[in-house]
Amino acid sequence: MRHILSMVLVLCFIASKAQDPCATYEYESYLEQINPGFMKALQESRNHALSSMSKLGKQGNDTVYRIPVVFHVVWNKDAENLDDSLILSQLEAINSAFRHNHKDTNKVRDLFKPFAGDTKIEFFMATEDPDGNATNGINRVKTVRSDFGSTTNLFAESVKSITGNGVDAWDTKKYLNIWVCEFTFRGTIVTAAYAFPPTGAQFWSSNNFTTSQLQGVVTNYRYVGRNNPNDNSNTSLREKTLIHEIGHYLGLRHIWADKRSTCIGQDDGIEDTPLAGVETRVCSTTKNSCNEGADDKPDMTENYMDYTPYPCTYMFTAGQSTLMRFNLLNLRSELPLIHVIKPPYEPYAQFSIYPNPSQNSITLRSMGEGDYTMVLSDMIGKNVKEETILVGETFEQKINTSTLSSGIYHIRILQNGSEVYHEKLIFQ
Ligand SMILES: [Zn+2]
Repeated sequence: MRHILSMVLVLCFIASKAQDPCATYEYESYLEQINPGFMKALQESRNHALSSMSKLGKQGNDTVYRIPVVFHVVWNKDAENLDDSLILSQLEAINSAFRHNHKDTNKVRDLFKPFAGDTKIEFFMATEDPDGNATNGINRVKTVRSDFGSTTNLFAESVKSITGNGVDAWDTKKYLNIWVCEFTFRGTIVTAAYAFPPTGAQFWSSNNFTTSQLQGVVTNYRYVGRNNPNDNSNTSLREKTLIHEIGHYLGLRHIWADKRSTCIGQDDGIEDTPLAGVETRVCSTTKNSCNEGADDKPDMTENYMDYTPYPCTYMFTAGQSTLMRFNLLNLRSELPLIHVIKPPYEPYAQFSIYPNPSQNSITLRSMGEGDYTMVLSDMIGKNVKEETILVGETFEQKINTSTLSSGIYHIRILQNGSEVYHEKLIFQ
């Protein structure tokens, strides 16, 4: 009987922990264990950032900062060796979120639209590796290790070093390092991803504390890119996972401030995110976990820093943008930021395809401008049609599909090799 009870307890622990979209808060606690004083330093740097934000004021508000990124794809099985197109589609998803010019901005509830913010931060694939060699920003490393998860904690720190059969960081002061790998907790996916939050060096009490090689983000390979074929979870954040983690990397906390079911105590420090007592795990427009009195607002479930599943997160707030910009300039100040006044990032053209299901033809309609490639593929991924399309202000094109047999197809729209639109179609 005792044996059965302990088994039930273990299963409950695993079930309640299963598929947490992010373990950054747990990671901070873990760092505190191995480096006592970490949490105090982190809290001091947060307080410093929050109290100094007002100094940022309007200064440099029009400047767009661009951060070089390296994706370390550390793979054992073929499925983990993600295609370039998936990684590029992830970069596009990150940029359109940080610039708030993606196709779902209109889904932000009217109540919150005035708070939605363009962070004016962009990311680009590194073009030079630490030795000065040309790179496309994707560092592929084959490993003998099939799972980087630890049996004693929720993380995958060994992926960050060659000695752990992973790969050493590229200078974390010069690049945002993103490690992509398989990691589970004793065979179960417990954590999708986690990030190393910025810490002000001036607060470190120990001289032998060297964490710079750990800075960055680790993510399970299933959650990288739009429509990652390895992701079979309908509750994951999908391509929003890395958006969320980069929010942590630039110093944001969860909007419920990790309080775990209480409205009392420390907030996330951001004025324009309403108080929230607990994370959100289903799409909801009515959830209101904290009554804030006269100016009460529902929980901002569409915020990237909640746990709301991917179809329902669309925004950072202006306050979160200000804090990230402040942290970037003060706590990650050695990143070789490219400063530009005019944003180089092209807004996401908005595509729609109708009818779906269809017979004999489909019509592709878009708003925006640019050169795109339209690729139509069948269920097993074989391309059956490919066309270059030049999209003008109001673009509409009929595509004849009468020669194709009935079934399920995928249409993908690419810009400079990067996927900007993907939809499943049914031909009858
Ligand atoms: Zn998180």
